[in-house]
Amino acid sequence: MNLHEYQGKKILESYGVEIQKGVVAENSKQAFDAAKELTNQTGTKWHVVKAQIHAGGRGKGGGIKLAKSLDEVKEISEKIIGMNLITPQTPAKGKKVHKVLISEDVYYPGESEIKEFYVSVLLNRSTGKNMIMYSTEGGMDIEKVAEETPNLIYYEEIDPLLGIQPFQTRKIAFDFKLKGNAFKAMTKFISSLYRAYIGSDASLFEINPVLKTSDDKVIAVDSKVTIDDNSLFRHPEFIKFRDLNEENPIEVEAGEAGLNYVDLDGNVGCMVNGAGLAMATMDLIKQSGGSPANFLDVGGTADAERVETAFRLILKDTRVEAILVNIFGGIVRCDRVAQGIVDAYKNMGDIINVPIIVRLQGTNAEQAKSLIEKSKLNVIAATAFEEAALKVNEVLA
Ligand code: GDP
Ligand code: MN
Repeated sequence: MNLHEYQGKKILESYGVEIQKGVVAENSKQAFDAAKELTNQTGTKWHVVKAQIHAGGRGKGGGIKLAKSLDEVKEISEKIIGMNLITPQTPAKGKKVHKVLISEDVYYPGESEIKEFYVSVLLNRSTGKNMIMYSTEGGMDIEKVAEETPNLIYYEEIDPLLGIQPFQTRKIAFDFKLKGNAFKAMTKFISSLYRAYIGSDASLFEINPVLKTSDDKVIAVDSKVTIDDNSLFRHPEFIKFRDLNEENPIEVEAGEAGLNYVDLDGNVGCMVNGAGLAMATMDLIKQSGGSPANFLDVGGTADAERVETAFRLILKDTRVEAILVNIFGGIVRCDRVAQGIVDAYKNMGDIINVPIIVRLQGTNAEQAKSLIEKSKLNVIAATAFEEAALKVNEVLA
C-alpha cells in the first residue's frame, strides 16, 4: 500500500523524525485556515501548497507552489485542487488532485546555507538485509543521479540482529559533511527514520529531500512510503490511510470479491488458477502476438459463480479483445470448470462481446473439451498450451 506524503509524515512524526510541518486541506477555504493555523504554530511567513497524489515529481508538474500570503495560499489551492496533475511518474493522462498539504516554508534564508540530501530505507533483496541508501544530491531525480553520477550514491546495510548502530548514523552524517548541531540532528534523523521503517513494516521510506535548514535542523520535506500489504493485518492504524481514488477501480472490486487481479496494458484478458500458471499464460499470450490485459488468479475453486465474477471484471476493461481461460484441473475437475464457464456464459451472454479461448488440462480434460464444444457457445476449446496460443493468435488476426 502506497501512502500520501502527509500520511508518511504522520508516521515519521510519531517516531520522532523532524518533518516540515503541514495541514491537509480539501478546498481553498480549508487551505486558508490551515495556513493561518500553521503560522500560529510555527511562525512561518510563507507557505508551500503541495498536491497530494501517489506520484513523485510533483514540483516539476506544477503541483508544488510557494505562496507568499494567505490570499496566495487560497488562490494557488483553488488551482491545484481538482487539477489533473501530470508528472514524469503519473500515467500520461495525469492524476486528479483531491487534497493539498499546506506546509510551512522551510527554505528560509539564513547565515549558513541550506542543503538538500536524499535518504531512503529499503530492502536489499540480494543480501536479504535492510539498507539505507543516501546521496548528497538530494532534491532531484535520484534515478538521474544513479545514471550519471552513481559514485554519489552511498549504501549502508543494517544487520537485522543488531539493528542500526551509532557508528552507522555517524558515518552517514559524516558523508554529508555536516558539523555541530546539524551533524547530531542528522544522526538522530537517520536512527528515528530506520525505527519508523521497521515499526511500520514498510518496504520503502524515501525522503527526498531531507533538508538541513539554515538554523541547522534536519527535516523531512517529502515522504514516499510503501507499507507491506502482508503486514496490514497487524496495523489497524493504517487502514484509514487507504485512498481508493488512487487505486484501479477494477482491482478494488476484485479485491472485494477475493480475486487476485492486477491490471495491465494489453488486449487479451486472462483467467487462470494459480499464480505460476498465470505468469506462464502471460508469456504464452505474448508469444501468440497479443499482450496480457491483466493478471488474474481465480484460485483453487473455479466454480460458476467465481468464473462469472472473473468474466465480469475482465470485461470492464474496454481494451480487451479476447479472453484466454487457462485452468489446470488438479483438485478441481476440468468438467466442473467447463460447466461453470458454460453456465456463466449463459447468465451474461449479452455482455460477452469478445471471443473466449478455453484451455482446460488435467482431470477430466477431454470431457471438459467436449462439454464446451457441445454447448454451441462462442467459446473455443483447447487442451494443449500451443493450441491455445495458436487460437488466440487466430482470433486477434
Ligand atoms: P516532489 O516534486 O513530488 O518530489 O515534491 P517535494 O516535496 O520533494 O518538493 C519538490 C520541491 O519543492 C523541493 O525540492 C523544493 O525545491 C520545493 N519545496 C518544498 N518545500 C519547500 C519550502 O518549504 N520552501 C520552498 N521555497 N520550496 C520548497
Ligand atoms: Mn520529493
